[in-house]
Amino acid sequence: MNGLPPHIAQVICGHKNIDTTMGYKAVYPAETIEAHRAFIARRRATRPSEEYRTPTEQEWDAFLSHFEKRKVSIGTCGRAFSTPCVHEHACVRCALLRPDPAQRARIEEIRDNLVARIAEAEREGWLGEVEGLKVSLAGAEDKLAQVDRRTRDRSTVDLGIPTARGDQ
Ligand code: SF4
Repeated sequence: MNGLPPHIAQVICGHKNIDTTMGYKAVYPAETIEAHRAFIARRRATRPSEEYRTPTEQEWDAFLSHFEKRKVSIGTCGRAFSTPCVHEHACVRCALLRPDPAQRARIEEIRDNLVARIAEAEREGWLGEVEGLKVSLAGAEDKLAQVDRRTRDRSTVDLGIPTARGDQ
């Protein structure tokens, strides 16, 4: 970046191929480094070092209890510390809920109940409710799909026990 010819930089760095040397130029362009430094400077200006103090006992307890309070009947709420519930505790619709596979039956029950309520609302002409119930139904189905994905991803494949060639 200070004008040294790349082929000299290649020799100094001990690279066999000039592409390797030029790769560093591509990966670490001066503009990127400068932009990162400016970002750090801005961040330090907005978060002065005195904010990074040791928390008090009370603050630490509040932090820990936040995680305990995130447990809900069908999983765990993933909202950030010290933030309120943004969806009025409609967890089945909420993207922040991480559903618990152990609660699959409960989520199924919620899904079936929503299907029945949609049918009833349509039958009775309560069309104002149908739309909202359908959003909840889509949420419940999405949670079930998430549970199934997690269960599938965790399932193990039995590869058998390796044997020495002479044992076969
Ligand atoms: S609705 Fe969302 S943010 Fe609110 S408690 Fe449930 S999972 Fe958390």
